[in-house]
Amino acid sequence: MLKGIGASVGIGIGKTVKLMERPVSYADATAADPKTEKDRFRAAADRFTIKNEERAERMDAAGADGEILRGHIAMVNDPYMQSQIYEMIDSGMIAEKAVETVCDMFITMFSSTDDELTCQRAADVEDIKRQILKILLGIEEVDLKKLPADTVLVVEELTPSMTAEMDVQNIAGIVTEKGGFTSHSAILSRSLKIPAALSIEGALEKIADGADIIVDGSTGEVYTEYDENLLHRFLEKKKALVKDEGIIEQFKGKETLTADGTKKQLFANIGSHKDLASALAGDAEGIGLFRTEFLFMDRDTQPTEAEQFEAYKAVAVGMKGREVMIRTLDVGGDKDIPYLKLKKEENPFLGFRAVRYCLKNQELYQTQLRAILRASAYGNIAIMIPLVTQVDEVVQVRAIVQDIKRELDEKGIAYKKDIKIGIMVETPAACLIADLLAQHSDFFSIGTNDLTGYIMAADRGNADVDYLYSAFDPAVLRGIRHIIACAGNQGIPCGMCGEAAADPKLLPLLVSFGLDEFSVNPTNVLSVRAALSKLGKSDCDTIAEEVLKKDSRQEILQYLTSLQT
Ligand code: PEP
Ligand code: MG
Repeated sequence: MLKGIGASVGIGIGKTVKLMERPVSYADATAADPKTEKDRFRAAADRFTIKNEERAERMDAAGADGEILRGHIAMVNDPYMQSQIYEMIDSGMIAEKAVETVCDMFITMFSSTDDELTCQRAADVEDIKRQILKILLGIEEVDLKKLPADTVLVVEELTPSMTAEMDVQNIAGIVTEKGGFTSHSAILSRSLKIPAALSIEGALEKIADGADIIVDGSTGEVYTEYDENLLHRFLEKKKALVKDEGIIEQFKGKETLTADGTKKQLFANIGSHKDLASALAGDAEGIGLFRTEFLFMDRDTQPTEAEQFEAYKAVAVGMKGREVMIRTLDVGGDKDIPYLKLKKEENPFLGFRAVRYCLKNQELYQTQLRAILRASAYGNIAIMIPLVTQVDEVVQVRAIVQDIKRELDEKGIAYKKDIKIGIMVETPAACLIADLLAQHSDFFSIGTNDLTGYIMAADRGNADVDYLYSAFDPAVLRGIRHIIACAGNQGIPCGMCGEAAADPKLLPLLVSFGLDEFSVNPTNVLSVRAALSKLGKSDCDTIAEEVLKKDSRQEILQYLTSLQT
């Protein structure tokens, strides 16, 4: 059994498909039997030929030119190249080493000329080499659109572009080598409702391609060897989870009320206007976090004001007057946008990021704020500032918004005059001066993903310090309680949009502390509504009192877990 971080609840049972996006390497062994190695190479060359024929046909059909790929096929099947490879195998090399040596020879030869076309052939051979090595090593590139049913993907990291390509119906589970509970791999797998176990070191080496596998997305356990008994146990667990889902479905269309009838707001987190459908399907009462950085990712240039305006407007219109909190660009830290050319920093999480970057890049920030303001004419938009550490940052953003409002007034362009400007409270500084920040903010939203990391001085994506990274640590819980109290004292609403807002174990504490709004993954909206319906304030106060007496995360978690059943 391999153990990672359980990042998306559910049981995935299927066969593995590995996606390798890193340098291909192999142990440099000598061949035991030249005939076997030649057969391996021949089989790999045949597989390469079939795959590239198919690809070429698809390219032709799409109006692109498949001839380049046919050129690659001809090269791999070229008698001279093959005889060179066989010669190397006869001299004692394994197939991988023989392919690498011969291809490198051709690459050196082709790239040493000034002729552009011949140089291009070096790049072609490089591509061929990688593909054949991947086939030989059983880590060939996979067409994500054509994965068979019940595939469990094993990847270094799940990226938005991968999820855009794959047919989600066929993915039974996800295993990654990198990423913590709040990483983008985790957030994406939860939003797709795919069971996921993350942060399994060396998963791509330890797990074979095409292996039978069970993934438990709540515990992070992964089994590649199992007997009938274990399989039965997991099939039963899967059935129970589906049953729970049925009960939760009954909360669709209902108000979000605690057991004593207090109304709470239950919003969804989204990363793109394309997630609007899942927020609506999940029954969200608003959007508590629109992560706009996704609009800036997977492209080569910044989105224009018009593009941003359309995206923000689509969400505002789609939510039909319900609140939409648009967070301004939260670049840096774990969120890189290559074309913005952020400097390499020793400590990117403590560096030039989010609102710090935006305030120093006024043109980019004004463009975004203008797009948000213009879109605000079409719905109930609010502006949310990430990674605040000083009152002055809020004052500066307010001044920029004021200037843009004036400009829009002069041009007669409509916008929401009383647009709210709130902040993410996700740094220890913001937590400690929450009383001061509350005087300058229309609302708070607690970002527990970052707040936990910064309070505990533990990187949210580093598996080695994962034992420290917990919103249930006494330090983080005290921080959360303080922030909510400061918002309450100032009379502004306080929400939470970090992943912890959906954790059933944390909910009693949040009810006791007086949190007003919960913003969660669209797929968690109903389960949070169901859980809140069972929680009354006075019971929650008793639980919170008990929790705050305890001095370790372990004790706190043990106690809160015991209340769950
Ligand atoms: C957070 O830090 O809790 C948060 C919601 O923002 P992100 O995960 O995008 O940093
Ligand atoms: Mg954050």
